[in-house]
Amino acid sequence: MKQFKTESKKLLDLMINSIYTNREIFLRELISNASDAIDKLSFMALTDPSVKLGNDELAITLSFDKDARTITVSDNGVGMTEEELDKNLGTIAHSGSQAFKEANAEHQGEDIDIIGQFGVGFYSSFMVADKVRVVSRAYGSDQAYAWESDGVRGYTVAPAEPGERDGENDHGTDVTLYLREVEGEDSPDKFLSEWGLRDLVRRYSNYVRHPVQMMATKSRELPKPEDAGDDYTPQWESYQELETLNSMTPIWKKRSSEVEQEDYDEFYTSTFHDWEKPARTVSFHAEGALSYDALLFIPSRAPFDLYSKDYEKGLALYSSNVMIQEKCADLLPDHFNFVRGVVDSPDVSLNISRETLQQNSQLRAIERRVERKVKDELTAMQRDDREAYEKFFENFGRGLKFGIYNSYGASASDLADLLLFWSAREEKMVTFAEYVAAMPSSQDKIYYAAGESRERLQKMPVVKNAVDHGFDVLLCTQDVDEFMFQAMRSYHAAAVAGDSEHQGTDERDLDLVNVSTADLDFATEEEKEQAEKASEEHKDLFEAMKDVLGDKVVAVRASARAGEAPACISTEGPVSLEMERIMAESPDAGMAPGARRVLELNASHPVFGKLTAAKDAGDDARLKLYGSLLYDQALLMEGLPVDDPIEFAKNVCELM
Ligand code: ADP
Ligand code: MG
Repeated sequence: MKQFKTESKKLLDLMINSIYTNREIFLRELISNASDAIDKLSFMALTDPSVKLGNDELAITLSFDKDARTITVSDNGVGMTEEELDKNLGTIAHSGSQAFKEANAEHQGEDIDIIGQFGVGFYSSFMVADKVRVVSRAYGSDQAYAWESDGVRGYTVAPAEPGERDGENDHGTDVTLYLREVEGEDSPDKFLSEWGLRDLVRRYSNYVRHPVQMMATKSRELPKPEDAGDDYTPQWESYQELETLNSMTPIWKKRSSEVEQEDYDEFYTSTFHDWEKPARTVSFHAEGALSYDALLFIPSRAPFDLYSKDYEKGLALYSSNVMIQEKCADLLPDHFNFVRGVVDSPDVSLNISRETLQQNSQLRAIERRVERKVKDELTAMQRDDREAYEKFFENFGRGLKFGIYNSYGASASDLADLLLFWSAREEKMVTFAEYVAAMPSSQDKIYYAAGESRERLQKMPVVKNAVDHGFDVLLCTQDVDEFMFQAMRSYHAAAVAGDSEHQGTDERDLDLVNVSTADLDFATEEEKEQAEKASEEHKDLFEAMKDVLGDKVVAVRASARAGEAPACISTEGPVSLEMERIMAESPDAGMAPGARRVLELNASHPVFGKLTAAKDAGDDARLKLYGSLLYDQALLMEGLPVDDPIEFAKNVCELM
């Protein structure tokens, strides 16, 4: 018995027990080796006229024996000589394939796509097997040899037994694993089944470029006998048929001009388990130090768990058609977590288990490109197909907003122009740019209102008042909206070229302002003056009202923007009523600061006369009643609950 070269016992142990986290990749590794062996033989046939291939299709064949607990992976590729068995399988971390690639470097091209690289994949077999037997016959040789090992004590190489690869031109390799007996979940027994193997092939080796076949059991209906009576029940028989398990065509490697959208759609729905076609498909190829192919999809609808913490973002990462990671999160920025797709690169430096990429800088480079491509696609969609874009935004807009919020506004420059908001004036969705383009020249801020429903916001006195003054208001109904605005602070508006009719504007930053904040200034000078005068004139009344309301408000004053309503509530400081409401629902509500409320009274409303009359008559009880009622009423108009509904009802009754 020969000993493994290098410190291989320890190394082998390390390898089997620590390199891989996932046992089931053993099949991926064996199929990759078989595919390499076929590639090598095809390459020889191309470059050496004396190499003649028979009529047999070059293929990889899987078989299993449930009773003997064996799985065999066979190929009719280049095979190995006795020396090669010794060298390639006896030396851990020696890759015959890497050597082959290097020797033929100048021929690397379309027709050769060698996967092997580290010289360890083969040993992953020992994660599931306690014995491995490899029978191999090199192309052009008439003797097969067998390599056998229990993975612990070393290995043997000897001529193969009669019946093992001794037919005419029987080149190729059979790798047979004797599966270890393990109880429970972890048992490799699940691989001793047609469905188990089919599943592994589809998952990891679906795009390997040679067919992976298996004899599969099928059933079919027997022909109806001619003399069958009316009570004939159909009879079935089962039969064996060679089935090709992998689909082979990596659609992402084709130029998009060569692929029908239908085929992309079919690939998307079957690969990502969506029943709706994707809204958009993006495919691109990067060339250079790091070349890769990418195929990305923007789904038509959000998966049900998109906004839950269970949702896993990521693109499938392939290297030379073999799956490395099903969901590589590093390839996608969080705000584009809804994108599905594949990135395939022969150049990425994989770690030795090929489970992850070694270099994060490579991932980051790909991620940046993916991000740019997705953004360009969305921008184009927004421009060319507004209806589809609005649907997209309904599904995924919230994620974009979270992107801005979570980056403390840093990603606003990338994402702001993808956002849509409901315009109170236009009564449709608009972008920031559209909002800005429609602003009167006197306006230098972007106004928004946040609350639970559009209908309610639309009716809010401050909103109506703003719109009446020619200022549009963005109506926001998602939790994240206002938090996002606060993270963003301002919108950077691009320069608009001047023409004869409109003044051109330079690029500028426009503050984002909640229309309910107290220092709002779109009221006309006249209105402001009036409000100021009223505040001065009725100072006593406001102070008395403040006393009545106590801690509920920080101030009572005359309003320049209540519009037609007798009163409204505004806030001072960073916390708006809407934010207060949202924060109150969060688990750490106790910590959240409340909104600083201001009750604003409309001095030109008839109700105001009643107030002054009560004050002048020294009727404190009446003043208290009116004060509470006006405050509660203003709350209701904001869509907020009154503090004490029973008190409110009592007050209304008293008035009646
Ligand atoms: P890698 O594939 O990264 O080179 P492996 O440990 O998977 O490393 O395989 C080691 C070497 O054994 C391969 O490089 C190849 O030379 C040889 N080999 C493995 N399987 C086969 C096969 N089915 N046919 C021919 N050669 C093989
Ligand atoms: Mg390999």
